[in-house]
Amino acid sequence: MAVGKDIIKAIHEEIRSNLRIMHVCGTHEAAIAKHGIRSVLPKELKIVMGPGCPVCITPAGEIDCAMDLAAEGKIITTYGDLLRVPGSKGSLESADGDIRIVQGIHKAVEIAKNTDKEVVFISVGFETTVPTVAATILQNPPENFSILSCHRVVPPAMQWLLDQGEADLNGFILPGHVCAVMGYDEYEQFPVPQVVAGFEAEDLLLGLYMLIKQINNGEATVENAYPRAVTREGNTKAKALMYDVFTPCDIEWRGFPVIPGSGLELKREFEKYDALKRFNKTIPHIEKRSACICDQLLRGLAEPTDCPLFGTACTPRSPVGPCMVSHEGACKIWHQYHR
Ligand code: SF4
Repeated sequence: MAVGKDIIKAIHEEIRSNLRIMHVCGTHEAAIAKHGIRSVLPKELKIVMGPGCPVCITPAGEIDCAMDLAAEGKIITTYGDLLRVPGSKGSLESADGDIRIVQGIHKAVEIAKNTDKEVVFISVGFETTVPTVAATILQNPPENFSILSCHRVVPPAMQWLLDQGEADLNGFILPGHVCAVMGYDEYEQFPVPQVVAGFEAEDLLLGLYMLIKQINNGEATVENAYPRAVTREGNTKAKALMYDVFTPCDIEWRGFPVIPGSGLELKREFEKYDALKRFNKTIPHIEKRSACICDQLLRGLAEPTDCPLFGTACTPRSPVGPCMVSHEGACKIWHQYHR
């Protein structure tokens, strides 16, 4: 950690004013908490979380829709993380029906090949998971297979956050995994300092140092502190695959309104695999009813410990909100490392 110590020293020397930096990646929050990075930073530097956990930003309406499909007799396949995320009527864990945890879309397709029943894969994730889903759809899965596309892309959410200005941000640490697929040229449209960072302690510290320097220099560009995995253009084959199969759509995020162009739906030629169209469903908007403040956490306006339910009524064993469910959720991460 000798290199890390040098970077920490350089950060302390470089900081000149109060700064609020947002990251938009659950894995970044996990790495920051695991390595105790906040504890070694100057008090002027605040790192806040954004909408970086794909499970956390899946709104209650999508969970309700998946539960309805299960109640109608479809086999629902999903990642384990999504099982306990609350909808308005409970969670998939408590729902009636045949609901199975799978490791990925390939396992869901295998199930479909061995049954006459309809099989729906709840397809959640940012740009990192979409190319695999697209490749599977291109391989013509069986007719009884479909996906509920809950995919979202990061840049429109950043645009929304910048337009609102409510989190008073000085810059962004960009998500290393997403940028490994997508590159970072899309982020150059934003007039704000940004640095792509990796997930080791030194990666994050270097990203923060570069960001502070950029802010102090009065610049607003995108720099790359993770060149061993990320290029400006990203993985062009994976990107092409993604947009061969999916097209952008407007979609609601948990804690956010509908954000234009922030979702991905299957293109018309693949709509037989689109569970919403196949079963004539729409995603309802559900008003928040609990005291959970996940919506504020996901917009960088609060921290898990600001929530009165944190660690009392809401724990990983009995989560009230999605941020206590997913291993990329801020509340679950803070519960693990901050207690
Ligand atoms: Fe929601 Fe629980 Fe986090 Fe509070 S502690 S914001 S109830 S997930």
